[in-house]
Amino acid sequence: MRADIVLCSAPVMSVLRPSVGIGVLHAALAARGHRVETLHLNLDFANLVGLDLNEQLAEQTPAHLLIGDWVFARCVGRPGPALAVARHEREITALLARRGIGGVPRLREAVAAPFVAAAAEKILARRPRIVGFGTMFQQTMASLAIAKAVKAGDPSVVVVFGGANCHGPMGSALLRTYRQVDRVFTGEADTAFPDLADALLRGIGDADAIAGQLYRDGGVPDDPPLRKLDQVPIPDYADYFTQLAMLDEADRVAPSLPFESSRGCWWGQKHHCTFCGLNAEGIVFRAKSSRRVLEELSELTVRHGIDRFSATDNILAPAHIDGVMRPLAAAPAVARSLFYEIKANLNEAQTALLADAGVTQVQPGIESLSDDILAIMRKGVDTLLNLRLMRNCREFGLGVIWSILHGFPGEPAHAYDAMAALVPLIEHLPPPTGLSPLRLDRFSPNFEDAERLGFVEVRPVVAYSALHDAPAAVIADLAYFFEGRAKGAAGEGDLLRLRGAVATWKARWEEEAPPALVFARVERGMLVKDERTVAASELQYLGPASAALADRLRNPGHLGGAVEAVAKEHGAAAADGAMRELLDRHFIVVRGDTALSLLVEGGRRRVRAGSGNPFGGLAPRAAPSALAGVAS
Ligand code: SF4
Repeated sequence: MRADIVLCSAPVMSVLRPSVGIGVLHAALAARGHRVETLHLNLDFANLVGLDLNEQLAEQTPAHLLIGDWVFARCVGRPGPALAVARHEREITALLARRGIGGVPRLREAVAAPFVAAAAEKILARRPRIVGFGTMFQQTMASLAIAKAVKAGDPSVVVVFGGANCHGPMGSALLRTYRQVDRVFTGEADTAFPDLADALLRGIGDADAIAGQLYRDGGVPDDPPLRKLDQVPIPDYADYFTQLAMLDEADRVAPSLPFESSRGCWWGQKHHCTFCGLNAEGIVFRAKSSRRVLEELSELTVRHGIDRFSATDNILAPAHIDGVMRPLAAAPAVARSLFYEIKANLNEAQTALLADAGVTQVQPGIESLSDDILAIMRKGVDTLLNLRLMRNCREFGLGVIWSILHGFPGEPAHAYDAMAALVPLIEHLPPPTGLSPLRLDRFSPNFEDAERLGFVEVRPVVAYSALHDAPAAVIADLAYFFEGRAKGAAGEGDLLRLRGAVATWKARWEEEAPPALVFARVERGMLVKDERTVAASELQYLGPASAALADRLRNPGHLGGAVEAVAKEHGAAAADGAMRELLDRHFIVVRGDTALSLLVEGGRRRVRAGSGNPFGGLAPRAAPSALAGVAS
């Protein structure tokens, strides 16, 4: 079929979900009457190399290593200096060995070039006049390689790049470095790309005057980002589902639908977390109306028969708690499963509402359990608020995705031992994925204001100079991930105890059932089941005064004030005894003069058993496939 515009999603990307950005552009172009087709070339690649290997590369390798880009780099041009290439390859080899991922060098040597040729042929068969590449994560080199082959096949095709890897100076550097790129959108392109298509294909307006793009002889600065998100069309994922169905192992894929209810961050707009790589324009918070979000979820479910959704939002809009979550909770669908990034200060009622609405997993940006380190990163929450959220999520059955960041300038080294000491008390709460060294991302305060915030020797990670044959100044513009030395950061030795404690914590959550610290009310007291390592005994009884004090500390509260309040009802001696009992049994955590109960109330699970994974999933392979040898 002929398409005037072909939008491409290049490898390496997960097969489990389409790109929301490309889906939105497809819908916007189609709405203006353009003949547009989206080619999910990442699906073709996954089909060729095997779904398991594709998912390992896309989802289980650190973003800053750019392994997917490394696979396609030779198809783009000469590599960078030998020293950089050697160091990058050493890092990749070590990572692949650690993760047990095999067959990747063969993809680079034997699969990448024929794949690129076939992809270009597939694109050119549509006889397009515009080919757009949306690049995020590890898609840049494959996009550049395919674009080069497309231009070689038909130099009249206009190649347009956009997406997160093109924002700000990165887009300008791509255009300067690679002749196969004709135009780059350096920010949001919801209306600019369709305007460009109108100009190039229909002569409506001046293509070179459209804001937010760079081209070989010039460019126009970005427009202010789109304010009214209700103007953004519902993404068109039809091509994704058509092409997904053609995979040899399509029946293994349980896809998820990405959707967008807001952009930017209402917290970061006021207090940009120091590590967060949202750029100055992108951080401006904008939300769709609640009515529109509900319509979109409903429309996507009806179109695709899928109730697994992952929100692309950086943070849940406060207005959507009542406006979206409450109506969803009031009309429950058995299978609905949503993922949202949230702020960790959601209270108990709000967390319960999310669970009732079908939210099954959240990413609350916990990042640390040290008040000092949370303050350094300007996170706007403290340890007890983080723990309250984790406890409430355990109570209501919500999954929590988080990790411990380390490596901040001036962080107190003893904070890591303090966190290690806390771990045995909170073994019943969802563990982190691990300890993650702080990365310097472009646009983050840590990068933009590196010297003042305590970073020295800041430079792009080695992957960029290994992959691109370009001068250092261009590499510095191309890069999103940087490395540097944080002055006064804790050393590896300071992390040892915490690493051990987290490993034990995670191991306990891999047992048949995670450890419990759960209570049931028994008359005016509580019967507590404690399966943590620090448990004095598995079953313990708390009398009325202790139960009353624990109830008063469901939210972080002044410990002395809570004891006084209990004393009014139960007497001073009983209240004092209650405090000692809760402390001795490790049922409360105290920071300064504030305390929080760790006790999870039983019987309050709200996430429905059997809810699907909001990110989708890949079923295990039933029988050996003939394709397995391709990547071995
Ligand atoms: S890390 Fe999260 S909360 Fe902080 S500024 Fe970025 S998006 Fe906002």
